[in-house]
Amino acid sequence: MAGQNRRQRRSMFAAVCQRFDEAARFARPYPPGLLDQIKACNAVLHVQFPIRLDDGSVRVIEGYRAQHSHHRLPCKGGIRYAPNVTQDEVMGLAALMTYKCAIVDVPFGGAKGGICIDSRKEPPEIVERATRRYTAELAARNFIGPGIDVPAPDYGSGEREMAWIADTYRALNPTQLDAYACVTGKPLSLHGIEGRREATGLGVYYGLAEALDDPEEMRRLGLAPGLAGKRVVVQGFGNVGYHAAKYLAEGGAVVVSVSTIEGALYDPDGLDIEAVRRHIEASGTIRDFPAPHFLPNPAEALELDCDILVPAALENQITAENAPRIRARIVAEAANDPTTPEGEAILLQRGIFVIPDVYLNAGGVTVSYFEWLKNLSHVSFDRMSRRYQENANAKVIEAIEALTESRLSEDQRARLTRGPDEIDFVQAALADTMVHAYRAIHTTWRTRQLPSLRVAAYLIAIEKVANDYLTLGIFP
Ligand code: GLU
Repeated sequence: MAGQNRRQRRSMFAAVCQRFDEAARFARPYPPGLLDQIKACNAVLHVQFPIRLDDGSVRVIEGYRAQHSHHRLPCKGGIRYAPNVTQDEVMGLAALMTYKCAIVDVPFGGAKGGICIDSRKEPPEIVERATRRYTAELAARNFIGPGIDVPAPDYGSGEREMAWIADTYRALNPTQLDAYACVTGKPLSLHGIEGRREATGLGVYYGLAEALDDPEEMRRLGLAPGLAGKRVVVQGFGNVGYHAAKYLAEGGAVVVSVSTIEGALYDPDGLDIEAVRRHIEASGTIRDFPAPHFLPNPAEALELDCDILVPAALENQITAENAPRIRARIVAEAANDPTTPEGEAILLQRGIFVIPDVYLNAGGVTVSYFEWLKNLSHVSFDRMSRRYQENANAKVIEAIEALTESRLSEDQRARLTRGPDEIDFVQAALADTMVHAYRAIHTTWRTRQLPSLRVAAYLIAIEKVANDYLTLGIFP
């Protein structure tokens, strides 16, 4: 996969800065130095610590945490687990988090962490030791805490790792009332929130559905409005790729290809996403799934004939090299930084519509924000309102029944009176967030005649962060 050579690639932080600069050209004049301060990465921690292996030997583990912006606290962003994570990579991803949070009005600064370990191949005990010690390193340097910096899952990490972080932080801060708000993406049993696991993929679905709903934009692309029948290629089948594929298929799209690092499945009639998931779960591999075609080089899937390409794996996948061969009309960036600036220039010149990462994958951090709020308020969103809502619904139904002199069946009544559960609040708020942010970006793009949706998204972020600096009085 192209992304495997990440160490040799251009600087990711520089690429994000390049995009910032491109958008900043369209920003109104700000006090000198303000844009430089917004762009700069505020703090980076680099740690190296020992863990003891089962054979008695010691291994030194390297880790990072980049806090890109302190203009709002806490800082927020995932921790990437991969043997070749670099400081530059986490700085770039942290910057992306700052802009992402601003775009979806999540009141946080951006951060990102990395631990140089292969969490899928290493035994769980080793990953646990590295995670707990990394957390202790962060805590010792005041780099973690509900009001300081709140990590979350990213590539190679999930609920398991977040549980270890929460437990370690709590052990170090036993009397801190809000300790569980030190990390998000936790298991439900450990103060997590319903809907966080699928949030990024579901957010991709909401964002894409909103974009496809625009008849004028679709006409320009030569596509019919709506998701129904659109042929979609999803690259990556991790938490983001799987959920994006699942919701897109449920929404009526035909997912013709999904892939892992081992290869891509291709079925022009559409794949059964749940069957693929079950196959991978049972056999540990995507190979041998009964699909008409298997492409051993997953990068080839990017070039398949389709309407929508959803890169949902790693960065640096669509480049100047393969962009001329992309056949999709829409590239929907579910991963962080999947398209290089040079690759994007070619896509745009070819009239391909690019929905940028900095907006489209913001569903994860949006629901993380809800989880953090839940942890701080020590109550789940449904608890205070469900029964009240059920009673209110029942009264409306009774009034209508009295007026119409008819009665609903018990089944109909139960469906209409049901009060909202936590998942209902989370998904409705996520949908609302994604739809509103899309409309803001799209309007800015069109009314200010900007070169791309990405420039519009960055410009919105720049203006919001600049406004915070000026109104919060944190710029000298
Ligand atoms: N790692 C995810 C991202 O890149 C989620 C971050 C979070 O929830 O804080 O957006």
